[in-house]
Amino acid sequence: MKQKLQTIKDEAVKQIQEAASPEKLGDVRIRFLGKKGELTAVLKGMKDVAAEERPKVGQLVNETREAIEALLEGAKNKMDAVIRAEKLKTEVIDVTLPAERNPIGHRHPNTIALEEVERIFIGMGYEVVEGPEVEYDLYNFEELNIPADHPAKDEQDTFYINKDIVLRTQTSPVQPRVMEQGKLPIRMIAPGRVFRSDEVDATHSPSFHQIEGMVIDKNISFADLKGTLEIFAKELFGEDTKTKFRPHHFPFTEPSAEVDVTCFKCGGSGCRFCKGTGWIEILGCGMVHPNVLKMCGVDPEEYSGFAFGVGLERIALLKYEIDDMRLLFENDIRFLKQF
Ligand SMILES: [Zn+2]
Repeated sequence: MKQKLQTIKDEAVKQIQEAASPEKLGDVRIRFLGKKGELTAVLKGMKDVAAEERPKVGQLVNETREAIEALLEGAKNKMDAVIRAEKLKTEVIDVTLPAERNPIGHRHPNTIALEEVERIFIGMGYEVVEGPEVEYDLYNFEELNIPADHPAKDEQDTFYINKDIVLRTQTSPVQPRVMEQGKLPIRMIAPGRVFRSDEVDATHSPSFHQIEGMVIDKNISFADLKGTLEIFAKELFGEDTKTKFRPHHFPFTEPSAEVDVTCFKCGGSGCRFCKGTGWIEILGCGMVHPNVLKMCGVDPEEYSGFAFGVGLERIALLKYEIDDMRLLFENDIRFLKQF
């Protein structure tokens, strides 16, 4: 039996040495170690071995199996190394080939418009601040001179988290938040997302963006407000742009105005874009109401200020002549790619 095992082992060594490819090695493995292999046949013949001899023969068979396996493994590793070295020699990597481009996105028209507005106001010494989108009713309405029974609350119906917490309807609550910090003077803009329970159409969306602006200092007058917004309009729509201030009402400013700019498409002579009027409305503004100053801990006898709010989508729509606000939110890549 011992002799037979040695013969099997010698034959296996010979065939392993002769094997020229991994496939051939696989064949050798099957021939000797497989289910119908020669070693397995020896194990099957154990029934003919005397009972006391069986453990010894079993051990010999195992030793032979392990020896053949080790030889097979060694031969395979050598072969793989040779194949790998050959591959490295033939497969040359051309490092001068142009790299594959990863498609990266680009800025959304809203972002481009926002960065443009931020650039203009930072240039005038303003600070960019942010406030929470989920806001206390106190900041969104009460401290902006809109008590619970005020009709302005109907116009700005929103989503309520509970009786005291809402999704903010405007970026104006950033005004009291900044004033309460007590650092004066203030020169800030506050861009951000706002919410209204509006139906979606070409000019309305339940979620859109505003940019709030506020200046609080000594001796701030309506002339400062007019001058600031005139510069803003010229920077944004071109040097020839004229502004028009129409009296309006906002609860948190007094006096208040809405601001139109001359149509940058027709220069004021009237076209389809401005609906023949020559003017386009862009924002609301006014002098901060003394009540608001008082509620936020600022002395209205000593300080005054102005505030304005502009719709970011409105700027983007005007600047890029987009006629439907929904396009800004649909994230259709064919549309967004144009900017
Ligand atoms: Zn026009």
